[in-house]
Amino acid sequence: MASEYMSMDNLRFLMYEVFETPELANHPFYAEYNKDTIDMMLDTAKQLSDNMLFPFFEEADRYGTEYRDGTIQIHPSTNKFIKAAGEGGWIGAAAPAKLGGMQMPSTLLNAVHFIMGAANNSAMGYIGLTGGAARLIYSFGTKEQQEKYIPKMFAGDWQGTMALTEPQAGSSLSDLVTSATPAGDGSYRIKGQKIFISSGDYSGVENVVHLMLARIDGAPKGSKGISLFIVPKHRINEDGSFTSNDVTTAGAFHKMGQSGYATSHLIMGEKDDCHGHLVGEEGRGLHHMFQMMNAARISVGVTGAAIASAAYYASLQYANERPQGRRITNRDINLPQSLIIEHADVRRMLMLQKTIVEGSLGLLMECTKLHDLMEIEEDEEKKKNYDMLLELLTPVAKTYPSEAGIVSVSNGLQIFGGYGFCKDFPLEQLYRDIRICPLYEGTTGIQSMDLLGRKVTMGNGKALMLLAGEVQKAVQEAMNYDDLKPYAKELMRQGQLLQETTQYLIGIAMTGDKEGFLADANFYMELFSINIIAWQWLKQANVAKRALLTENPQGDRLQFLESKIHALKFYFKYEVPKTAGFITILKDTEQLTVAREKELIC
Ligand SMILES: Cc1cc2nc3c(=O)[nH]c(=O)nc-3n(C[C@H](O)[C@H](O)[C@H](O)COP(=O)(O)OP(=O)(O)OC[C@H]3O[C@@H](n4cnc5c(N)ncnc54)[C@H](O)[C@@H]3O)c2cc1C
Repeated sequence: MASEYMSMDNLRFLMYEVFETPELANHPFYAEYNKDTIDMMLDTAKQLSDNMLFPFFEEADRYGTEYRDGTIQIHPSTNKFIKAAGEGGWIGAAAPAKLGGMQMPSTLLNAVHFIMGAANNSAMGYIGLTGGAARLIYSFGTKEQQEKYIPKMFAGDWQGTMALTEPQAGSSLSDLVTSATPAGDGSYRIKGQKIFISSGDYSGVENVVHLMLARIDGAPKGSKGISLFIVPKHRINEDGSFTSNDVTTAGAFHKMGQSGYATSHLIMGEKDDCHGHLVGEEGRGLHHMFQMMNAARISVGVTGAAIASAAYYASLQYANERPQGRRITNRDINLPQSLIIEHADVRRMLMLQKTIVEGSLGLLMECTKLHDLMEIEEDEEKKKNYDMLLELLTPVAKTYPSEAGIVSVSNGLQIFGGYGFCKDFPLEQLYRDIRICPLYEGTTGIQSMDLLGRKVTMGNGKALMLLAGEVQKAVQEAMNYDDLKPYAKELMRQGQLLQETTQYLIGIAMTGDKEGFLADANFYMELFSINIIAWQWLKQANVAKRALLTENPQGDRLQFLESKIHALKFYFKYEVPKTAGFITILKDTEQLTVAREKELIC
């Protein structure tokens, strides 16, 4: 088993030096989060992950989740961790202090989730969902709902879920049919079924609070008819005792990865006795749920980056220990074998992993910082700009760490040779685990159409302009350093190509060919993502360069900073040129994938 799964040095470099998170403490809302507090929180999260999470990562996968006695049996260490996370304040960390939270900046909370997710991604999922579901209640729920549910959820006693998906409504949520009939006492009788509900039910949990989308009788079809409800597994009586709420767990999904994470099939109202309570406004359910979905998209990105990080450090360790063959420069059979880290092809795979993991983490922190700034900004115009930029980057922050994360873990597995395919090493599990990331929380296809079809045109192109302004800042700084200048120029050139390609595609949309416009949106996502990650690498290299020039660094710090510049070079040599292929595809007018009357896929 590998001994390390993430780098605290890298996390601190990003938080303190690139994104300057402690500056948030200048605002009264985040006043407690100075560097000392952040350091302490990160160290505590790492200790918890080392001692509680990492040790049962593999065991929980082998144990799996089994449907038995009407619930889903999970590894008991998961329950212990959830309880410990509740006691440590991690579940409600982001909530305002007046609601029992710690008012923790999203940047810090996601950094904590990154540490925990790298140690044990399945276990981390449970607490992330409860935190998100509770946030929906405190953002849109009544005072009574807040008092009834939030303390138990924050304590880790009650699980929270997001219950959206139905058999006929996965990507297309506007087709959901779960019904809500006014019961006459202020509650609604809920009837329907939900599938694939993460943490939907499991052994040892007291109660499960489903944040569920349903349609009130007579509501219009489509998304405008969707409302949000709290549907608990057990109704809570005046004296705190429970009455079953007619939510049946019909089964567990047996998945290729995240096998320790319970995924349930729920049936509501078989006995006509399932009661739900409206949260927020009738007909605004999808709008309210978007708060949780947007945060969950960032969380999926964090999970992808975290799993890829665990894979990177496992393969780095292996490459430093495994002797095989000899370097091409010295084939003398009498000499001992070289370590595989000396072979160029293995080094290429390691560098690819590093650039994906650390580039993804940069993008994710860019997003969480925007979220934190939005939270405290008083100037409406600036707040709107942060929001717009965050909206533009969110589909990329969900998709790049997920898709490139798979490539990254696959390369890590390759470094293990045949052992990578075996259960003796963690790579096969990490490879299975990360495969879910491009699927849930909006598939890559859906995220790509969102990016091209909605986000890049937001505010008549204002979102793209704001992004260009941010990229320009990194370019300008890099132009001061001779060795970074070529990369700054290349990033500018890439930005122009992206702009031209975007205009070209919008031209297709303007002809009315909406389907042709979006047919290759996934390639647009790849093109866009490479630009974004290249920008992140330039930002990181700028900071490293500044430190190299001003600090006279030695030892590990020198190696760390130089490796950042090296990674920038690698990303621009090996990944950035791929954009040319994507642009060629996107500008090719021949339509081979749009459905026609004559079916040619057979
Ligand atoms: C392990 C796991 C955990 C999950 N957890 C939750 C949860 O906690 N809560 C919850 O509500 N849901 C959850 N989900 C559901 C998940 O969000 C859906 O599986 C996902 O949104 C895709 O829906 P679907 O499976 O019905 O696929 P479909 O929507 O049927 O999609 C199938 C394929 O068609 C493509 N496609 C669909 N529509 C279009 C379109 N209009 N244009 C182009 N391509 C399209 C998709 O991209 C995909 O490739 C989970 C799923 C899994 C597997």
